[in-house]
Amino acid sequence: MPRTSRFLPLLLAVLAACAQGAPESAPSARPPNFVVFFADDLGWGDLGSYGAPVIRTPHLDRMAAEGQRWTNFYVTASVCSPSRAGLLTGRLGVRSGLYGDQARVLFPDYVGGIQDEEITIAEALRDLGYATGMFGKWHLGDGPEYVPTRHGFNYWFGIPYSNDMMSTLPGREERRAAFLDPKIEYWDVPLIRSERDEAGEIVTETLEQPADQTTITKRYAEEAVDFIRAHRDEPFFVYVPHSMPHVPLFRAPEFEGHSRAGLYGDVIEEIDWSVGRILDTLEEEGIAGNTLVFFSSDNGPWTAFRTQGGLAGPLREGKGMTWEGGMRVPGLFWWPGTIVPEAITNEMGSTSDLFATFLGLAGGAIPDDRPMDSLDLAPVLRGDGEGPREEVPFYRGSELYAYRVGKYKAHFITEGEYGLAGERTEHDPPLLYDLALDPGEQWDIAADRPGVLADVTSRALQHRAGVAVAPSEFDLRTGR
Ligand code: MG
Repeated sequence: MPRTSRFLPLLLAVLAACAQGAPESAPSARPPNFVVFFADDLGWGDLGSYGAPVIRTPHLDRMAAEGQRWTNFYVTASVCSPSRAGLLTGRLGVRSGLYGDQARVLFPDYVGGIQDEEITIAEALRDLGYATGMFGKWHLGDGPEYVPTRHGFNYWFGIPYSNDMMSTLPGREERRAAFLDPKIEYWDVPLIRSERDEAGEIVTETLEQPADQTTITKRYAEEAVDFIRAHRDEPFFVYVPHSMPHVPLFRAPEFEGHSRAGLYGDVIEEIDWSVGRILDTLEEEGIAGNTLVFFSSDNGPWTAFRTQGGLAGPLREGKGMTWEGGMRVPGLFWWPGTIVPEAITNEMGSTSDLFATFLGLAGGAIPDDRPMDSLDLAPVLRGDGEGPREEVPFYRGSELYAYRVGKYKAHFITEGEYGLAGERTEHDPPLLYDLALDPGEQWDIAADRPGVLADVTSRALQHRAGVAVAPSEFDLRTGR
């Protein structure tokens, strides 16, 4: 008793101070944490909340129910490397050089990659005092100068490029057949750990080669959980670009037969598990209310792989193309207590908008010394304003193939990919679709709406006139 009474006045004083300070200082005292999941080749229609008929994604569906499910959310390119560049830099690949007209993505022996002049979200947030960790696939260059720890991340655990690169099999047919019965040793992809200390010293090591892809989804999640626990008392940015469901498909033994939708379904359900693992961690650590979690995919489903690719839902085509199925992706935002839940958010958004959105919420600003393609979506998330995005460009390499203004989209050029959907075709007049009535781009209304077509075309030309195309990093290949 005496001991308790000695400390009681002090305890009461501390509690009183906390009670007074909490309502005003707690929300603004610390900027929010950010967690970004970026699946690889996951389709618009692969999540329960987006209408997947068989695959079960309870954790992602929870994000949709408690947060916002955006139905007009886009990436900046229909393939891996330029799409990742758009998310991380808030700029179109044509501005940063992270695109190619001959090579559409970076391959292991290429010399190009993200340049030092580019500013990633990770760099901008680290300058504001954030701990920055990345757990997954990079694909913005695999030379030592391009390692994520040189571009804003303090910590990286993951693979440098796609999980189907560095094939160990000799012939085209054997390589193709390998996807149907994938084995770890068929792809000699390294699993890398890289750390950057306070002084900027970087230590990079290859942990495995080939990476054990059966446990890779799980290990990205567990590494991210450890990072979140270690940095729970400071603001953090955690980027989880899963290597799955890009083929070859692998999942942990406990997810074999987990889904009724076969191997592909198992892979998606394991990704969903990883999301649940991290949401649970945020709640256990008491920081869910101060963390914005975002989930999306780098491009549409790789339909050339048929039953090993996902679904684009009602959207046309998939990966590699500027039809909606290639570039419209799931966009889930979750931030309990801050995001105003909406069943469907119809506003347009792009992964390139994360830069301005996050920097705004963190109390920073986007760079003003270069053109950015990033708009602040926070008013929509908070439910106190209109969406700022009215237009979406659809690039393939350096060329503008299509352009969306409001609900209308004009295609100037269409082209298939991976043996699907036809040859390159220039359209004069352009094709025009009303995406509100026709998200599947089935009914060309160009002849019925000449005024709309003229308006969309002129705004596309205006956009184009404002873009200075940088030299391609991907097309350098081995020539630098
Ligand atoms: Mg991809």
